[in-house]
Amino acid sequence: MNEIHRIDLPRIVLVGRGVLDSLGDVCHELGVRRALIVTGGKTYRIAGMRAQQILNADGIRSDVTYVSVADMETMERVKLEVFESEADAVIGVGGGRTIDVAKLSAANSDTHFISVPTTASHDGIASSSASIKGLGRPYSIRAVPPTAVLMDSLIVSQSPYRFTASGCGDVISKVVSVEDWRMAHREKGEYYGEYAGSLALMSSTLIMQNARLISGRTEEGYRTLLEALVSCGVSMSIAGSSRPCSGSEHLFSHTLDMIAPGKALHGEQCGVGTIMMANLHGLDWRGIKESLRIIGAPTTAEELGVTAETLVEALVRARDIRPDRYTILSKVHLDEREARLLAEECGVI
Ligand SMILES: [Zn+2]
Repeated sequence: MNEIHRIDLPRIVLVGRGVLDSLGDVCHELGVRRALIVTGGKTYRIAGMRAQQILNADGIRSDVTYVSVADMETMERVKLEVFESEADAVIGVGGGRTIDVAKLSAANSDTHFISVPTTASHDGIASSSASIKGLGRPYSIRAVPPTAVLMDSLIVSQSPYRFTASGCGDVISKVVSVEDWRMAHREKGEYYGEYAGSLALMSSTLIMQNARLISGRTEEGYRTLLEALVSCGVSMSIAGSSRPCSGSEHLFSHTLDMIAPGKALHGEQCGVGTIMMANLHGLDWRGIKESLRIIGAPTTAEELGVTAETLVEALVRARDIRPDRYTILSKVHLDEREARLLAEECGVI
């Protein structure tokens, strides 16, 4: 046994109220002299402009580029702008799409990536994976973990609450993804990392335990969620794959993205998937559903904005999305009738 297990982690993680103010210090610490800020039209006004002002005041030159979709064309454009502006850091200021484009263009141009999320909608804000359209697959690809993550709870708390509830759904889903992973280890001899699995599972437990703190929109609730999202990102870095954070419930969500695009947010879909996959695993699906309900995340097809037929179809097709990932869906092989019964038993349809 002389296998080298490489773990790439963020070097600096700041969580709390007003941490955006430290952006200049963080850049100095990393030796960044010129940055490209990747942001969206709206998120520029929310935090991108402020980020640029802070950099200016600290003597760091910066350019701004806007993105609205996370596809390969946009990523290539941003990568080119990184070279043209001679930036030594890409700073993603925005939601999931912006962060994903910034992350991948930083990875492909060998520069630092600094993540400044304006929402807490999913765990990609602190992970090394990116969801990019145009690669012929609906799940995320490996990029690099951010060199620094600045999670300003003040900014995140001002985003629509729906994003926060979605982020909770994404974290809660780890109770199932870790169970899928353990099962793959037991039944298929797949590598299982106890430390990575435990970390992801703990994040899920903490969000369920603190459901009321989160729905009360307290500072402590936001911090708990942000720290859980960082921990999920770290667990993936330790595992060297998305395994601890993406199981059957994510396959269900990815399938919905394909057959009913744009209906619901990633974490919302994962949350609903978690209820049903937890049932298949014999876990406490009622407790999971109750936590999602308290948080204010969807627990039914109707709340996701999809029909019962679509939801059942997603359940049946989910196992084919990523055949290399062994999950409870590979094992039980739901047909349409069984899928419908499962969804009905869980009160999802
Ligand atoms: Zn996710």
